[in-house]
Amino acid sequence: MTDLASRLSAIDERIVDAARLAGRDPGEITRIVVTKFHPASLVRDLRTLGVREVGENRQQELGAKADELADLDLRWHFIGQAQTNKAAAIRRSADVVHSVDRPRLADALHRAADGDDVLDVLVQVNLTQDQGRGGVGPDEARALSDHILELPSLALRGVMAVAPLDEEPASAFARLRAVADDIRTVEPTAHWISAGMTGDFVEAIAAGATHLRIGSAITGPRPERG
Ligand SMILES: *Cc1c(COP(=O)(O)O)cnc(C)c1O
Repeated sequence: MTDLASRLSAIDERIVDAARLAGRDPGEITRIVVTKFHPASLVRDLRTLGVREVGENRQQELGAKADELADLDLRWHFIGQAQTNKAAAIRRSADVVHSVDRPRLADALHRAADGDDVLDVLVQVNLTQDQGRGGVGPDEARALSDHILELPSLALRGVMAVAPLDEEPASAFARLRAVADDIRTVEPTAHWISAGMTGDFVEAIAAGATHLRIGSAITGPRPERG
């Protein structure tokens, strides 16, 4: 717990420094702690340390942890690739879905709405050349955004991406920023940019990220998964 607390505060200091260096207000940046592969007890410890925004990349793990921790005031961010047939389960547990990358997934999330509740979603943009990676190509992001804007139970909040491994994060995040700026011209409230992980959050802040998804630098190394 003391290690967790010190890693968390060290990262938060680096976020503040990076924001100041970029001429930005640190208060406009949300730090999401990615807790995938770690037990629910770690999320409970994080909540004790003041963390409210947590991220998971697998539907089953999200559902199990959200159920187990239903007594806590947490905001769950789903950041993983989503199967269309899991959309209802994801919607049941997540407060925000960062990884909407095709119209069919948006439709499935919309159909799973319960009453008039509205789900915050982001368009995931693929910044790599590899079509197999999650996300829509930068040229298709606008069309997907337009599609989402027609679904009343989804609130388009912006864009999300993971930087490629074989490129400087700054140049990749600049492309994401251009997509974000374009989408904001049609939907001014879609101003979130979810970018930046343990290895590249400083560059993401410089490129305008509003939501950082930080895992191992805070939680420590992820346990092995068999
Ligand atoms: C695991 C994960 C993160 C966090 O990665 P770290 O390098 O541990 O900070 C962020 N975003 C996505 C989509 C992830 O799957």
